[in-house]
Amino acid sequence: MKVVLPDNSELELADGATGLDAARAIGPKLAEQAVLVRSNGTVQDLRLPLHDGEKVQILSTRDSSDPDALAVLRHSSAHLLAEAVRRLHPGVKVAIGPPIENGFYYDFDFPQPIHEDDLQAIEDEVKREIAEGRVWTREEIAREDARERFAAEDEPYKVELVDSADGAISLYTQGDFTDLCRGPHLQDSKPIKAFKLTGLAGAYWRGDERNKQLTRIYGTAFYSQADLDAYLERLERARHRDHRRLGPQLDLFHWEDVSPGAALWHPKGMTLWNELEDLRRRENARRGYLEVKTPLMWDIELWKRSGHWDKYRDNLFLIEYGDSTYGLKPMNCPGHMLLFASRLRSYRELPLRFAEAAVLHRDEPTGALHGLPRSRQFSQDDAHVFCTPEQIQDEIREMFDYVEFLYDAFGVRELAHAELATRPDNKLGTDEEWDYTEGVLREAVERMGLPYELAEGEGAFYGPKIDLFMDDALGRAWQMGTIQLDGQQPERLGCTYMGPDNREHTPYVIHRALFGSLERFIAILIEHYGGAFPFWLAPVQLRVIAVGESHRPAAAELAARLALYRVDVDESDETVGKRIRNAELEKIPYVVVYGDKESDDALAVRERGGGQDTLSLAELQVRLAALGVP
Ligand SMILES: [Zn+2]
Ligand SMILES: [Zn+2]
Repeated sequence: MKVVLPDNSELELADGATGLDAARAIGPKLAEQAVLVRSNGTVQDLRLPLHDGEKVQILSTRDSSDPDALAVLRHSSAHLLAEAVRRLHPGVKVAIGPPIENGFYYDFDFPQPIHEDDLQAIEDEVKREIAEGRVWTREEIAREDARERFAAEDEPYKVELVDSADGAISLYTQGDFTDLCRGPHLQDSKPIKAFKLTGLAGAYWRGDERNKQLTRIYGTAFYSQADLDAYLERLERARHRDHRRLGPQLDLFHWEDVSPGAALWHPKGMTLWNELEDLRRRENARRGYLEVKTPLMWDIELWKRSGHWDKYRDNLFLIEYGDSTYGLKPMNCPGHMLLFASRLRSYRELPLRFAEAAVLHRDEPTGALHGLPRSRQFSQDDAHVFCTPEQIQDEIREMFDYVEFLYDAFGVRELAHAELATRPDNKLGTDEEWDYTEGVLREAVERMGLPYELAEGEGAFYGPKIDLFMDDALGRAWQMGTIQLDGQQPERLGCTYMGPDNREHTPYVIHRALFGSLERFIAILIEHYGGAFPFWLAPVQLRVIAVGESHRPAAAELAARLALYRVDVDESDETVGKRIRNAELEKIPYVVVYGDKESDDALAVRERGGGQDTLSLAELQVRLAALGVP
């Protein structure tokens, strides 16, 4: 048989040859370094047979930053971890241990709880295993045999996994540890040049909080020590920017256990929030959006009519009242549709753009909550544009113009990428209609020059959509804005307009949020700026430090003359040096120290991260005025 290599050359192999056989046929060095076979985007263990005509790529230790090559290294490292834990903690039960982004974990059921300071001994034991060397062997066995084997070893989680596994049952063994596992795995432990355990957490068996809580040990592994060092350094830098740390530290917001997934916004946080809100309102007004307000709580009858009950039921917070059940709104669409349908509309009113940044609630499992980006309560800069099919193109173009404006206002364009979800199999409408709507979205995203990927077949059945993503400080992508065409919900909720032909038509609706969740956007901003907000966003823009008690009136006078800005006066008794450092920690853009030598003609002005200047009040005012709102 033949397989096709990445350079399109063909490789002759004996029937039934494996990936490792192919590597050997290419060269002994590759055979030694090979870690994985990739074929048409799927990965396969080196030990498994290839198929005639298959296009194959053999990944080796040289592909040290390839995500698939890293995943197989980390998955194998997880097995080493399980082997070590079983040796050090007799009686422990093993659950599952997959690779994840940036590392791996393994879940254990320990007879005695373990703590962070137990991790070092485990890490040392894994390193000992690596130094000693481990080889992985793979076997396939009958389900009943696997069941018996794990029952005999008193591994109840594995028995459960055997029972629920579909397809062939395979086992991987290294050292004295055999795991139920689909693979793929490394040939041996030689490629694992760097291994580190990174943390400990609780995790429910199968992610279900009705199940027993297990102990999850996180770790990571790399093909070189330099890669691990670079990763840890990146992690450390990201930790300093983490919004969950900076938010409370900068006095912006905090969380309370009695309302999980909902932040308490402090005055400084609200200043930031309101700057975004002001920008949203101003731009919406300029771009022809009309602000509306619709109820937070709706009888579930509405959610049934809108179709959300089928899809979002699990995410709805429900409230029993009288004979009815109400749901807190997870999105604004149905309310806006009812508003549109509240009277007969004419085509002359279209496009009609309703905007609302109401508080929304979505029930997220406790384990999935993550600071501001994944919370249970949030607000979107939501809007619904009702339009005719002919108006779609201009509306979409205008929305992208708006996105561009926003991203440039915050300087976050380089963090963003997009995904265009195209027609699914169960699509409504003709291919010509889809060609048109997909084409409009594609043209708009290309014109903006945003990198984008196609998510083929992942559009909703009623229309294609564009999702906008941004990376946080750790490089995790979060979905931010969305622009979605909908020819379905308006009909379900009775939206019609009278056309020029004097007949009723159903409008198209474009759902769009451009910031996306304001909470999520603020989290991205905090991490992007590392808390050092640009002047127009900074909760305190300028601080006047009165050197001594006698300077307080003059300092207050100066603050009053700069009242156009958010200015405060530091009248504390601490040393001037300490107070300047405090202002630096609070990341305040400008500090004016007011002492004996200062007057309106000569102010000592310190710029954040920069030097010191002596400016007159008039010069300072000119400089601040140039830093206005985008
Ligand atoms: Zn495994
Ligand atoms: Zn909507």
